[in-house]
Amino acid sequence: MDDQSFLDRKYFIDSSVYNCPFCNRRNVRYSLTSTNYFDWNNRRRCYVYLVQCTSCEKKSMHLSFSMLRPDAGGMWFDFEKYEVDNEIFYSVPTSFFIVDSRIPRTLRELITESEGCLKMNYLTGASACMRKAIYELLVNEKVEGPDYQTRIKTLKQKYESIDPGYFDVLAHIQDMTSDKIHEQSWDKWDSPTLVLINETLKSIFYEMYVLPIKKKERRLAIEKLRHAVKQEKPKEQEN
Ligand SMILES: [Zn+2]
Repeated sequence: MDDQSFLDRKYFIDSSVYNCPFCNRRNVRYSLTSTNYFDWNNRRRCYVYLVQCTSCEKKSMHLSFSMLRPDAGGMWFDFEKYEVDNEIFYSVPTSFFIVDSRIPRTLRELITESEGCLKMNYLTGASACMRKAIYELLVNEKVEGPDYQTRIKTLKQKYESIDPGYFDVLAHIQDMTSDKIHEQSWDKWDSPTLVLINETLKSIFYEMYVLPIKKKERRLAIEKLRHAVKQEKPKEQEN
């Protein structure tokens, strides 16, 4: 079967199921309970969507400049017309993946903010958030070194299990030196660069802070099952 794990990182998977940020259930049914709009400015209308989880019944709020409901109405998003996650620029709570509390709060907030800026095409804001996210990552991991490249290299060596290509992406970001982070002299990055950095950082955060805990939980679960089998069938161990 194809790797479908990217679906876990989406908010809305299709017109009936999503990843609930409250009960953390994946592929749970949702309903679009209310739609409204307000005028963002003289030219633009912003739509507000309230979505309810059918499992925990909690409601989340989503903003978009597109009318994501099908023409005929209905309590769902129009997935035939839209890639819904891409159309929503602000959600409370933020997306399932980002909200994962195992990722340090500062990093989570910066990524969330930069994604919001990116969706609104605020490239300077997105660039500032991502620069700070990289800087905070290095601080958080207590990585030392005389310059940016060296610190990224040290981080790469520290996490050998993570695809080294991710760190190479960070190391090769144009105009990224640790000295420049607090200066005003840097240029904003363009949109494709920002998307690349954003996705790379999210993958790194996931592998650093989420995956090890998941692996440990699985290991403990298997241990528990093995223990139960041993206790129930103490004499059937020929195989
Ligand atoms: Zn729920």
